[in-house]
Amino acid sequence: MSDAQSSPDPSAQPMVDAVVIGAGLAGLSAAATLHARGRSVLVLEARDRIGGRVYTAHTPSGEAVEMGAQWLNPGHDHMFELVERAGLELAPPVLGDSMVMLEGKVNRITPDADPDHPGMTPFEVADLGQGLLRLHRLGERVTDNQPWAEANAAWLDQPFERWVRSNLRTPGGKAAFLHVLGRAVGLISPESTLVDTLQRIAGRDLDSLAAVNAGLQQRRVQGGMAQVCEFLAAQLGDAVHLGAVVDSVVIGEQAITVHTAEGESFTGRDVIVAIPPRLVDGIDFEPPLPEWRSDLVKEVPQGNVIKAALIYEKPWWRDRGMSGQVGTDAGPLRVMSDSSNRGSSQGVLTGFFEGAEASGLGRWTVTLRERAFVETVRSVFGPEAPAPLDYIDVDWSGERFTGGCHGAHFAPSVWTTAASSLSAPEGRIHFAGAEYATRFTGYLEGALRSGKEAADRISKR
Ligand SMILES: Cc1cc2nc3c(=O)[nH]c(=O)nc-3n(C[C@H](O)[C@H](O)[C@H](O)COP(=O)(O)OP(=O)(O)OC[C@H]3O[C@@H](n4cnc5c(N)ncnc54)[C@H](O)[C@@H]3O)c2cc1C
Repeated sequence: MSDAQSSPDPSAQPMVDAVVIGAGLAGLSAAATLHARGRSVLVLEARDRIGGRVYTAHTPSGEAVEMGAQWLNPGHDHMFELVERAGLELAPPVLGDSMVMLEGKVNRITPDADPDHPGMTPFEVADLGQGLLRLHRLGERVTDNQPWAEANAAWLDQPFERWVRSNLRTPGGKAAFLHVLGRAVGLISPESTLVDTLQRIAGRDLDSLAAVNAGLQQRRVQGGMAQVCEFLAAQLGDAVHLGAVVDSVVIGEQAITVHTAEGESFTGRDVIVAIPPRLVDGIDFEPPLPEWRSDLVKEVPQGNVIKAALIYEKPWWRDRGMSGQVGTDAGPLRVMSDSSNRGSSQGVLTGFFEGAEASGLGRWTVTLRERAFVETVRSVFGPEAPAPLDYIDVDWSGERFTGGCHGAHFAPSVWTTAASSLSAPEGRIHFAGAEYATRFTGYLEGALRSGKEAADRISKR
């Protein structure tokens, strides 16, 4: 392919300040920020819709169902600010008891007695999350690395409470940590050692259990998260091109030309690549991007999640004093939440098929996946749970323009050593997206911030 400056493509459109590849939250955030600063932008989106991993689907009866990102957590300040600016409302939290199923036994949990409800601060929630993650990783290390465990036997024998004191910082975080853990594995006696606790959590999915117990602080957008993306796209007018699959980028001295599989060309001074890191390899850059980039992202699996929803005539669990929040430690469906819409009489339960047990589910028929969801609901709530009206799901690993979800999982050492280089620009090629974010990596908040940061770098020049 030729240099855009030396042999201009006759079909190319007028040059803009920045061409953005991908109309997910990061791409839209970057484009809207630049547009607001008076820069000309074009957004090229492969799908026939905007939003990427933000996807509010609608059932035949018109019920909005989040098939992608849904929850905003404490600390997602830029997202909360954007929701407010877009004039959208947050759905009120659903009150009621949560259900946690451990080793086939169902526990009903009344949140009012929880120390983590309702008043944990964002720091405490972050502290709780960090603590659970550390404990989880330590458990894996002990299981996977016997020589390490033997060499550190004395340290592993320390009182568990001492480990909690030195690894969690906030009193609220510590209290909630012990509470959540107690819920997950039963009471932890004051005499327990660290290694005792690690043995008790072995093989348990603490993340799913924490999602239920600490999840009351999570908020979602009334009517669907896609409205946030629509708000940003509305500011860009016809600068957003749908159905534009970018397949090559030619970097010239003054201008960069972006070509689509449909044969169109667009020229910009800068380009923001706002697609999941693994998909960058599918675009032919000339001259090529450094090889270490594609070597690095190959190390980063994208995850394997099917998000599913059952639609009911009404949110019947509420009548029984339940919140619809469910966590289980086994089976293909680990977390469920009430995602019903205000103003609608119907009830919506969303859930995730994930983990090793879900890896083959993409090959199941939709009917079998629906049956698995319904069976999990009945095993948690009881066989009298009513039949659903409808079922929908999205297998994100089968989505060509996403390539797996929730997002890339950087191994800890990969993230600390290479992530900042990965998000750094290559000349006038910039990168934005949830995986490139230095804070809230993998979340909506990270995607939004990373898009703004890419726009800031361009604006400063
Ligand atoms: C099921 C699910 C649940 C989630 N739940 C939550 C949650 O509750 N809270 C939360 O904070 N986060 C959640 N996430 C994560 C969140 O959705 C993502 O972090 C965020 O949306 C990523 O935004 P992005 O712009 O970086 O990437 P994407 O949304 O992936 O956007 C990339 C865009 O680029 C487009 N594209 C790809 N290739 C090309 C190409 N060659 N040419 C042109 N366009 C291309 C894609 O179509 C897409 O629109 C969830 C994700 C999933 C899948």
